[in-house]
Amino acid sequence: MWMIYHIINRINQWLDEKLFFEGIDPRILTLKKVVIVAYIAALIPVIFMTALVWHFDMNTLLPYGFYLIAFYTIFIPLLFFLKRKIPITIFIGMTYIIVVTFIYTLKLGGLTNSCGIFFGSLATVIFTAIINDIRFAIWLSIIYVVTIILSGILQPYFQIPADIPPDKNVLFFTLNTTWISIYIIAFILFFILEQTKAEKEETRRLKEQDDAKTQLYTNITHEFRTPLTIILGMVEQIREDPDKWMHNGLKRISHNGKTLLHLVNQMLELAKLKAGANPVNLILSDIILYLKYLTDSFHELAQSKQITLKFSSPHTLYFMDYDPDKILHIVSNLLSNAIKFTPSGGQIEVSAKAAPHGQSSFTICINDNGIGISKDKLSHIFDRFYQVNNNTNHKSAGSGLGLALTKELITLLDGHIEVKSEPGKRTAFTISLPVTQEAPLTEDLSLSQFSELLSTFTSIPVIEKTAPLCHDNTDHAPPIALIVEDNSDVIHYLTTMLDQDYRIMTATNGKEGYKMAIKLIPDIIICDVMMPVMDGFEMLSQLKNDIRTSHIPFILLTAKADVQSRLEGLEKGADAYLTKPFNREELLIRLNKLIELRHTLKERYTTLTPIPPTDNKALQREDSFMEQVRTIMEQHMGDEAFGIDQICSETAMSRAQLYRKFKALSDKTVGEYLRSLRLKKAQELLKKTDLNITQVAFEVGFKNLSHFSHAFLEEFGYNPSKARKD
Ligand code: ADP
Repeated sequence: MWMIYHIINRINQWLDEKLFFEGIDPRILTLKKVVIVAYIAALIPVIFMTALVWHFDMNTLLPYGFYLIAFYTIFIPLLFFLKRKIPITIFIGMTYIIVVTFIYTLKLGGLTNSCGIFFGSLATVIFTAIINDIRFAIWLSIIYVVTIILSGILQPYFQIPADIPPDKNVLFFTLNTTWISIYIIAFILFFILEQTKAEKEETRRLKEQDDAKTQLYTNITHEFRTPLTIILGMVEQIREDPDKWMHNGLKRISHNGKTLLHLVNQMLELAKLKAGANPVNLILSDIILYLKYLTDSFHELAQSKQITLKFSSPHTLYFMDYDPDKILHIVSNLLSNAIKFTPSGGQIEVSAKAAPHGQSSFTICINDNGIGISKDKLSHIFDRFYQVNNNTNHKSAGSGLGLALTKELITLLDGHIEVKSEPGKRTAFTISLPVTQEAPLTEDLSLSQFSELLSTFTSIPVIEKTAPLCHDNTDHAPPIALIVEDNSDVIHYLTTMLDQDYRIMTATNGKEGYKMAIKLIPDIIICDVMMPVMDGFEMLSQLKNDIRTSHIPFILLTAKADVQSRLEGLEKGADAYLTKPFNREELLIRLNKLIELRHTLKERYTTLTPIPPTDNKALQREDSFMEQVRTIMEQHMGDEAFGIDQICSETAMSRAQLYRKFKALSDKTVGEYLRSLRLKKAQELLKKTDLNITQVAFEVGFKNLSHFSHAFLEEFGYNPSKARKD
């Protein structure tokens, strides 16, 4: 039985490959496959039994075998090629088998003398299960039952043929019922196997759907939380100091309000499309004028990024049917993407033209020379909520809704969209729309009616450059806070909150943030999770695994409120996790707490004695760094020329990195610490050995005795000679 199961499984896989064609319904594929497998499996014993019948000269039964063989040899290839009307074809085939079997049951002298062939009909009826159509199953069962009853009733009217004596009937009855029974069992096994596979497939599909939904909610909440943080934050600031914040705050509130409105509009639009509740409202009007108007509306936004935006067309005007609302959504989505993904100094061109005579289509092309989209990502970009680099945190600003909506709108208009892109060079979206001229003529389309909707696409973010950081590393310089965030409004909001107490540096993605952190060794990092190029988690784990930056307190700032993300952040070493929308107080409290914690660390590392062991993994790393530096210092203590440069080369850090890390941990400069260490050693030597003061001074790297005495007095409040006396 196991063998049969195995063989069938192999055939199953082979058939999957052979029978598949683009667009085939998976249920039809299964149906074809099962029938082919079943018929091939039946053909073999049928040939064998027919040969046996021939051998025994059972001429009455012989044609039945031939009919069946002929049927299978025609029907099996037919199923390979047939692409439509498959269930009904199979039903007809099954009916044929039952009818032929019925005729031969009668010819053989009725049910009891049928050599068991009527079992073949029973197997056929059982097979209707796979057509999965109750009508076919009922019909076939009726036909079968009728043939059985008729065979019983008519039995007395038929003679038993001479070539089918009772012993042969018994032999063939046994053989036929045996192979047909095995055949039925194998079929049931196969059916269960397929059923289980189908169930698994369904579970996988449901899970995928579920994951997509979760992804959708995550993206949506992210999209809502960021603007909400700004709006709520700005309201707070305006309330506190209206004179200072009113103007700027209102601009940001308005921009973020529009971002929210845009998102809601897009979602509603998609929902309407899905529900089929978005009728096409065609007007016959000049599409060139309309496209120019749409492109013009984006000029200011493009200019704010120093992008050149051009419109070109060989036609001065072109009258055709179009739905202004839908064209607005389509073109605006593509244009705002082009602006979003083209760096400053780039170029975007919108071109529109009708196809040459004879082809009734109109194409709109939106070309940009921006970052481009990689080949493997191109086929997904029209999927809902798909964003390139789509591992949930790696994101570009946006919801991933725009292109899905664009595509659905274009489909609704009977058009189609194509995208070509060369990563790092250019992207071109080409839309083709059918040209008709049947809608009511609207010559004076009032364009102003679209301005409100357009403004949700063209709202310009308020960007303020942060002042370059002055490299003041003196003790009085305020600490450096590095803000890594892709939303300029959030950067602004955080800056206004912190710039009184911190020197603020900003980066707009994880990679840039990482480079800055390594270069500057900031005192604190506040970082978003979802960012383009490198996400916050990745940046966090890279910095926490780098000894130069592992000590820096790291606050993850995110719209991802789910527990899993929180845990992931904390596991990777985040010191705090703040969910948007957060308020000022909350952030300041977190910062203060981290700074307090930093102070306890300073006590741990200021001491010149060995650091007590700890279970805390993060602390262990810092402990070993401090121990390493101390060991290097102790080894070279007698060398007067020894200093920060040697420590830098042994720890593979730059002077600035070593300085900032060491100071952050111990609140002392490397030089101060080295001096204290030398003097402490001197104190020890004076107490415990007979070396004279000059020898001791020499031993700890002081070549100048008066310099040593002076330093000693300053450190301990008494002269070296006093230490000796004690
Ligand atoms: P989003 O709101 O995130 O921009 P879209 O559906 O509009 O969502 O776009 C999906 C993704 O396709 C974007 O996140 C981006 O990665 C990519 N994309 C779209 N247009 C362009 C373009 N002109 N250049 C580069 N990438 C693009």
